[in-house]
Amino acid sequence: MTSPIIIAIDGHSSTGKSTFAKAIAKELGYIYIDTGAMYRAVALLAVRHGFVSKNNTIDADSLGKTLSLNPQPDISFRTSGDGGASETWLNGENVEQQIRTIEISKVVSHIAALPVVREYVDRRLREIGSRRGVVMDGRDIGTAVFPDAELKIFMTASPEVRARRRYEEMRSKGQDTPYEEVLNNIRERDYIDEHRQTAPLTKADDAVLLDNSDMTVGEQVLWFKDLLKRRHLCGY
Ligand code: C5P
Repeated sequence: MTSPIIIAIDGHSSTGKSTFAKAIAKELGYIYIDTGAMYRAVALLAVRHGFVSKNNTIDADSLGKTLSLNPQPDISFRTSGDGGASETWLNGENVEQQIRTIEISKVVSHIAALPVVREYVDRRLREIGSRRGVVMDGRDIGTAVFPDAELKIFMTASPEVRARRRYEEMRSKGQDTPYEEVLNNIRERDYIDEHRQTAPLTKADDAVLLDNSDMTVGEQVLWFKDLLKRRHLCGY
């Protein structure tokens, strides 16, 4: 029995991080945390409070005040009864569907660039991670949130492959957004994530690169098991 570790999965938007992270969490019996969902929930909160203007300018002061209210807004993950999927809850409301719309995708990177938002989310993630035995996916988990994570993976794939996957996923959920709009959104989010001042998206020096442009989920899991063996981690 080896002690549980933190596995940080970072990378570009729509690289299939959550699918991969869920699969390996299941493999190891770890919990999976979708950190992007936290930023999306904060974005939804900001939109609902009217803190986001049409050109995506954010009233950061008002949002900061709302995030530091006592009690603070509560964002949590719960497992749904059917199939055990993780769902995001905001102040006691299931917002899993609302946070995945193209409207929220358009504003979330602007929200995530705000230091006050990152402080709020980082605090919650460190609380959750202190229990160990977690797989977290995001943009800055291995660089800023858990720089001492025992295993870091950086995922990427071409923008076109990512847009196609996201487009299909949205269509399967009944959201009919044109492919070009999805591709533009992915390119824009890459740019904002890589160029923001606080915790920009970048590969940690000690992260292992996984380009899954031409890999199935099954192939990625095999790749991961092989990595564990080579590193003598998690009993492999
Ligand atoms: O992973 P997902 O695409 O749902 O994340 C939504 C947005 O949240 C990203 O585009 C990024 O701007 C932001 N994010 C972040 N840091 C993380 C996770 C997500 O800045 N750790």
